[in-house]
Amino acid sequence: MKTEATELRTAAQLLAEALDLPEFSPGWVWLAGAGPGDPGLITALGLHAIAAADVVLYDALVNPTLLNFMQAGAEAIFAGKRRGQPSIRQDELSGILIARAKAGQRVLRLKGGDPFVFGRGGEEALALAGAGVPFRIVPGITAGIGGLAYAGIPVTHRDTNHVASFITGHGIDGKLPELNWQAVAKGSPTLVFYMALAHAEEIANKLMAAGRSPDEPAALVSDATSGESQRVQVTRLADLAVAAKACKAPALLVIGDNVTLREKLDWFGATAPSGFA
Ligand code: SAH
Repeated sequence: MKTEATELRTAAQLLAEALDLPEFSPGWVWLAGAGPGDPGLITALGLHAIAAADVVLYDALVNPTLLNFMQAGAEAIFAGKRRGQPSIRQDELSGILIARAKAGQRVLRLKGGDPFVFGRGGEEALALAGAGVPFRIVPGITAGIGGLAYAGIPVTHRDTNHVASFITGHGIDGKLPELNWQAVAKGSPTLVFYMALAHAEEIANKLMAAGRSPDEPAALVSDATSGESQRVQVTRLADLAVAAKACKAPALLVIGDNVTLREKLDWFGATAPSGFA
């Protein structure tokens, strides 16, 4: 049964009242994270923002189900990359946020995961600050933590790693960013890469050259938390390039011994014990 849009909005308003959430005032921009895919992973504050916004600028990785909470007459603007078409330029996008806010709208910039984790939220917030537009940051569950949790891989675990590093495989020019690979390889037993598919081979080679074992476990988690379409491939560092070729974006790459915990912790793929399902 499909819930009416007005009922959804009322539900979000009740939630906002019950939790005493801050008012989304006209002339403000909220930069919010929608979580990695499962719509249930948005925060209450994020949901409240969707229901209260006059305009929502959303990215490709935002689950469209969440837009059902928008009020009648509010405007949804797709701000992500569409196949074959360039996305709105960053300065253009910031310009829209600023202009809409200055026109007195409640402007929601909704991003996949967390807005401040590899999501250019910082750039947009700096543009708003520079233009004197008031803004609020609504954190979200980042794919590198929530996505791994859905794959049964704890991002930290006392027996395997006291440190985890979050790394982007995609620099500003599209190449693998210049990193101190010795430091990366030695400094952190667990490495979580975003946007790593295109450079997976190079990443594996650099890490092995810096001393990481070719047998070290690695996993690729694609469409993490997105219901049936989530896929997890467990491999080893030496075979990562082959596994990455068979992997669909968006995907996370995690390297480290914590990957083996999935053998026991794959709750998402597990079936309920009979009699209780
Ligand atoms: N701000 C986002 C990250 C944006 S960068 C966050 O905090 O999660 C986009 C990259 O995030 C993708 O290339 C992929 O590496 C990762 N990602 C986002 N959603 C994902 C998902 N559902 N499954 C796997 N990876 C995901």
